[in-house]
Amino acid sequence: MNTKRIVSADWSLAVHGGAGSSPATWSAEKRESRKLAMEVALDIGRRVLSGGGTALDAVESAVAALESDGNFHAGRGATLTTAGHVELDASIMDGATAGCGGVAAITVVTNPIHVARRVMHSTPHVLIVGSGADAFARQQAFPMATAADFLSLAKPSEQPSATELKFGTVGCVARDSSGNLAAATSTSGTTGKLAGRVGDSPLIGAGTFADNRYGAVSATGIGEEFIRRCVAYDLIAQVRYANRTLGDAAKEMFDNRLPSEAGGIIGVDASGEIVIVRNTPGMSWGAADAGGRFETGFE
Ligand code: ASP
Repeated sequence: MNTKRIVSADWSLAVHGGAGSSPATWSAEKRESRKLAMEVALDIGRRVLSGGGTALDAVESAVAALESDGNFHAGRGATLTTAGHVELDASIMDGATAGCGGVAAITVVTNPIHVARRVMHSTPHVLIVGSGADAFARQQAFPMATAADFLSLAKPSEQPSATELKFGTVGCVARDSSGNLAAATSTSGTTGKLAGRVGDSPLIGAGTFADNRYGAVSATGIGEEFIRRCVAYDLIAQVRYANRTLGDAAKEMFDNRLPSEAGGIIGVDASGEIVIVRNTPGMSWGAADAGGRFETGFE
């Protein structure tokens, strides 16, 4: 077996808040609030990892913080379907065990990443959708959201149009100090999506993938393009079978195979190296590691 696992005591972590328009088009206030939200999520993940916690716990808690923030098209900041509803998608994967869970078109919670993790741990399934996901969340006693919890429903006039900022998915990848990798992604989908449409974010292999030996990936962008190419898994497969670095694999994907302005990914490889690649004008990201790195950016 071709194993590339390098065991070291170092942890590393990256988060994203979606890829899309250039941050130059945003107001200073919006930049500042997004930056702060990324820093808060990064800090939450950093505390988990520096305290010896698992990559899985780090990615779940960082994504939950971004879902709860309201600045992103996920969780409280969800955009609406053309039918005027919130439908959320999320997934999580443990690179140590290939354990994974997801929910799609869930409507009753603001933190679908927690429900995705419960699918992983408490059911024999990988993905639960629609009314089944709602019923599962209710049965598992997750707090039920009301319309007032979603900013777009509470303040409809602030719902962005389909031509404005299109992306705002959130995600996180991490390597813990035991060498375990994990990835998580959460979204309300593309702006102006049809009711019932599901993108790449809840799909293991398209929007999320993790394998301790090769890397962990969380994607953002036009989900249909990522589903067609199984992007998250394809990048890991390139590392595994083509002997590429995760960074080279991602560059090849965004330069040659995805349409221009399709989106971006964050990734971490088995050694803990963080990769951030996009082919959109902007992408919100943050990165931290045991060596003291703690930074965010929009490009
Ligand atoms: N990839 C997400 C989807 O297609 C959208 C995004 O990343 O903004 O649902």
